[in-house]
Parts: sequence; C-alpha cells; structure tokens
Amino acid sequence: MDRRRVLFALAGGLVAAAWLPRAWPQRSYARAEDLYAALREQPRQSLSIGGGTLDIVFADGASGLDRERTLAWIRRSATAVTTYFGRFPVRRVGLLVIAEVGSRIGPGTTYGFDGSAIRLHVGRGADEQAFASDWMLVHEMTHLALPVLGEQWAWLMEGNATYIEPIARAQAGQLAPEEVWRWSVEDMSKGQPAAGDRGLDHTHTWGRTYWGGAAFWLLAEVGIYRQSQGKHTLQEALRAINRASGGNGADWSAGQVMEAGDKAIGMHVLSDLYAEMKDKPVQVDLDGLFRALGVDMRDGRIVFDDHAPLAPLRREMTRRR
Ligand SMILES: [Zn+2]
Repeated sequence: MDRRRVLFALAGGLVAAAWLPRAWPQRSYARAEDLYAALREQPRQSLSIGGGTLDIVFADGASGLDRERTLAWIRRSATAVTTYFGRFPVRRVGLLVIAEVGSRIGPGTTYGFDGSAIRLHVGRGADEQAFASDWMLVHEMTHLALPVLGEQWAWLMEGNATYIEPIARAQAGQLAPEEVWRWSVEDMSKGQPAAGDRGLDHTHTWGRTYWGGAAFWLLAEVGIYRQSQGKHTLQEALRAINRASGGNGADWSAGQVMEAGDKAIGMHVLSDLYAEMKDKPVQVDLDGLFRALGVDMRDGRIVFDDHAPLAPLRREMTRRR
C-alpha cells in the first residue's frame, strides 16, 4: 500500500475503509524490478526440464488458480522448446505467475537483463482447453533461446518466436502439422512492406515486427534447405546461435546472430538474407513459397501436397521428435 492511499483511507474514514479491501487490485508486477524482486523474495518451486531449471513463483500465492494444471502447462511448454532446441534454452529461468480475473491466458513478457525471467498472467477461470490450446508460453520460452537485441531488431526476435512456436509444439506432438501452417497462410501477408517501408531494421509496425520477421525466418528455412540441398536446416543454425550466446542473457547485434548461425552450417544464407532485407522493402512471394512447400487452404482447412518440391522439408520441419 503506498502512502497516498493510506492517507486517503484515513481521511475517508469508514467509507474508504469499507471500500479499500474489496477494490484492492492484484499487484501487477508491471515494472521489471518488481518482477525480479518477487522472483527473489517469494516462495518458489523448481522444475528441471531439458537441462534447465525453472523457478516458479505464484505471485502473492495466486489464490484461486489451479496450480496442478498451471504446472502441467509450464512443463508441456518447456518440453516443446526443449524438443526444438535440443535442450531447455537457458540454464535457469524465473517464472512469475500472476492470477487474474477471467478465463484468459496471457499476456506474457520475457526479460533477460537481470537473469532470464518470464511474467505470465493466467485467468483463474482458464479451463483445460484454454491451457491445451495456449501458444503464448511457448512463444515466450522461444525468446529465451536467442540473445537480446536492440530495439531496431525487435522484428528478428518477435519474428523468430512467432515462426518457431508452432513448429516446436508440432515436433513435441502437441500440435497437428496442419495447424502449424494455418496462421502463416492466414496472417503472414500482414508482414509484407507497405508504402513508405524502409526495410525490417527501420520499419517498426506491428505487422512488420511479428509477421515480417516470421517471413524472414521462413525464407531462411527454405534458403538453407535449398542451398545445402537438404543437408542443413534452420533448426541446426538456431541451436548453434542458442549455444554460442547462452540465450537471452546475452546482448548481441543482428549481425552476430546471422554470423553464428551461418558458421554452424558453413554457409552465409542468414547474413545474405539479412543484408537483402534490412534496409529496403522486400515483397516476399508467399504464395510461391506455400505452393513449393505443398501447403494450401481449401474450405478453411489446410491441405498438403506431397508432390510439391519442398514437401520433404515441410515434413521434416514438423516431424515428431
Ligand atoms: Zn514475443
């Protein structure tokens, strides 16, 4: 309780005293320092997954939240990123779970500057279905894998989490391959450059950041596969970037990310693609890419063509590990 509120309550007498306890909100932990303090000071329980330790704090006890269900969801999400990256992407992360009114899961935010940490808002009314269909936590945990970059490279980080999240869930058997492609087919066009666009490093709209960034990683996926004739994958490059950086506790440039990925596959696909897209608007031939991968949408359903030239890549991307 802050000083102003105490004074107000005293001045307001009985009316304020009656009002205050009911209206007192759940602390939001919106400031990063409050998040880190809660992770340090409140009771925690730890999960070990994929070589990493997850220290979980239920903020202020998170009364009314189903802890077992929440922990199962955290474990499932951690398993998905562990499957994709070959290990949990950081040695240690703190998760602050904040109970909210309603039945929504999210939002979530990931930090790295004072140790890896994720803040999660979870509705007390969230049911089994809401937890099972959640993508947000796998998205946040994917952020742990890459180094933190400056603001002009938000597209690289957000695009990566947007692109990898459904693939990671599919590889862990948590999402059907058809569903991996649904969002991309429906929404990736929102990442195309509009009039006045000055390239990914200089155009910070929502569409360019999330879907423009995701399109970059899809192009990287296809580029690595084509140029190496199927010998190397983006997954291999991203695992190498994760190992070299140690995850989101590191502070890198986009150039360093591309270099570390390229080094792992012995090519320069990532650096070339970055040089091409960073300073100018590049329209991506999404229809052509989806056709080559054998992905189509008919009557609201995703259908696959196994004779498409990149069908082997598409199958490999979502193969159950
Ligand atoms: Zn994100």
